[in-house]
Amino acid sequence: MEQAFDLIVVGSGAGALLGAIRAHDLGLKPLVIEKAPLLGGTSATSGGGIWIPCNHDMARGGLKDSVEMAFGYVKTCAKGLASDERVLAYVETASVMARYLDQVGVRYRAMPKYADYYPHVAGSLPGGRTMDPVDFNARKLGHEALETLRPTNPGQLIVGRMQMNAFEAQTILARERKAKLVLAWIMLRYFVDYPWRRKTARDRRLTGGQALMGGLLRALRERGIPLWLNAPLKSLSVEHGRVSGAVVERDGSAVKVTARKGVLLAAGGFERNQAMREQYLPQPTDQAWTATPPGCNTGDAITAGAEVGGALHLMAHSWGAPTLFVPKEEKYRALFVERSLPGCLVVNARGERFVNESCPYPEFQQAMYADHARSGNAIPAWIVFDADFRRKYPIGPLPPGEAVPDERLRKSWLGAVYWKDATLEGLSAQIGIDAAGLAASVARMNDFARTGVDAQFGRGGNVFDRYYGDVNVKPNPNLAPIGKAPFYAIKLWPGEIGTKGGLLTDQDACVLDLNGQPIPGLYCTGNNAASVMGPAYPGAGSTLGPAMTFAYRAAAHMAGQAIALERVDLLDGHA
Ligand code: FAD
Repeated sequence: MEQAFDLIVVGSGAGALLGAIRAHDLGLKPLVIEKAPLLGGTSATSGGGIWIPCNHDMARGGLKDSVEMAFGYVKTCAKGLASDERVLAYVETASVMARYLDQVGVRYRAMPKYADYYPHVAGSLPGGRTMDPVDFNARKLGHEALETLRPTNPGQLIVGRMQMNAFEAQTILARERKAKLVLAWIMLRYFVDYPWRRKTARDRRLTGGQALMGGLLRALRERGIPLWLNAPLKSLSVEHGRVSGAVVERDGSAVKVTARKGVLLAAGGFERNQAMREQYLPQPTDQAWTATPPGCNTGDAITAGAEVGGALHLMAHSWGAPTLFVPKEEKYRALFVERSLPGCLVVNARGERFVNESCPYPEFQQAMYADHARSGNAIPAWIVFDADFRRKYPIGPLPPGEAVPDERLRKSWLGAVYWKDATLEGLSAQIGIDAAGLAASVARMNDFARTGVDAQFGRGGNVFDRYYGDVNVKPNPNLAPIGKAPFYAIKLWPGEIGTKGGLLTDQDACVLDLNGQPIPGLYCTGNNAASVMGPAYPGAGSTLGPAMTFAYRAAAHMAGQAIALERVDLLDGHA
């Protein structure tokens, strides 16, 4: 039977749900379809951070921003690979969208000390543009609805159960004085919440991507917006040159759904499609290295959009991050910040450092590929640390040794997650890297730790690096000697937290054809679309912020209330 809506939203990540909610509030009748049995996609497993220039919470931290500054910054970062109109649309509308999130019950606060990722680029700020979701009480959603939301990833849980927000994570990692108190408070809250835990093992306090998606799910349900799970998009329907609906698989049958105003593709990237990875991404590449949920983002809606004439852009780029394998976990874990802590270094198979370990994760992944292209030795790379590091800090699935000593780690992890030896030479032999090279790199690092200056790669030389340093370590919070046996290593792969190439869109998220003309009725956002950030990652939240902002603009366009650009004087040709 054919069904009719104003708008079909494909996917159920952050951009998808925000788009459906906004469309509803503008008077449209949306349907959300999701191919997986759980909703939320990678967005639900994410940190939930959003990068919002000029956001409403910056003033609280005494921070000043302007559209002009943010536009200049993103434009430089995008290197001409995103149109100025889209960049302007983003920096102008992101703050409007963030206020709207607040209105629909998804609250955010600015992170005043979390710096933009390129502190050396004009227009960057030392903090404030990245926003973290305020904790969300899952009781507002109910435990049954919570069970339909994809759970977070193990990296964001304490002892596999309790959620922590970005502020708490930073306090714990940086070993601030209140770190132990914060940890104890998180655990206590969880264990005394007995009535809730009788219903589900999942924490009632949702943080990060769970808070974002929990809040959006509640807003979706309050509005009675239908969401079909296990309902993949199969193809787009076109009538008289306009996308008029979609064919969706439901309960084993193909259902034709009409969309009077349009279809919003928000079905993620293609990181789980090995053939597309081989066709587009730098080599070597393996879908297993990605940190996103298996089976979800296989590029279906990128292909569907291309089949109706959509142009593809930025297909060789990803939101890179080093990842590591943990047995029995469904996906690799991203190693976002532990590299930055003092007392570790990362080397290639020659035992040589090739990058500032504290740099942002996308730069780190790109450095792995660059060094591999030069030396053939950086995939995999190895993070090496000593007993002091192991004792003090968590890394990957290993909690700090002072909390969980080696004897209490899972036996199966030794030789699979981490390697360990009494000497650096023995460790090199175990992991098959050049022992003399590693010894020389460690000796050099130890000199840098004494002087506080990494003369090779400048680690700890800027505000971003220092954010995830250890405040107690002097003179450089990112550098400490590596000398106390035993020594450890963990293998790193050039994974990602999503791909960033997809359908080319304009400032209203309308999909463009090969001649640069909008395809009527077809909209796209999130990793389904080519990123507004070009090849760059301007700050934490650069994927979710644009996913929701362009969904917001798409809904307005579909409702006949397109949002005009204001500072057109900033565009080339208007200056
Ligand atoms: P997703 O959220 O992945 O949603 C896509 C959905 O579409 C999936 O549910 C999928 O099943 C569905 N789908 C696919 N094909 C079909 C089909 N044919 N029919 C119907 N549905 C389909 N980014 C940030 O900005 N800030 C962060 O703090 C952050 N932290 C992260 C932490 C981790 C550990 C990871 C892994 C990622 C993080 N990211 C972060 C990246 C971010 O989560 C993703 O880039 C973002 O969620 C992508 O959103 P999306 O809507 O494009 O895709």
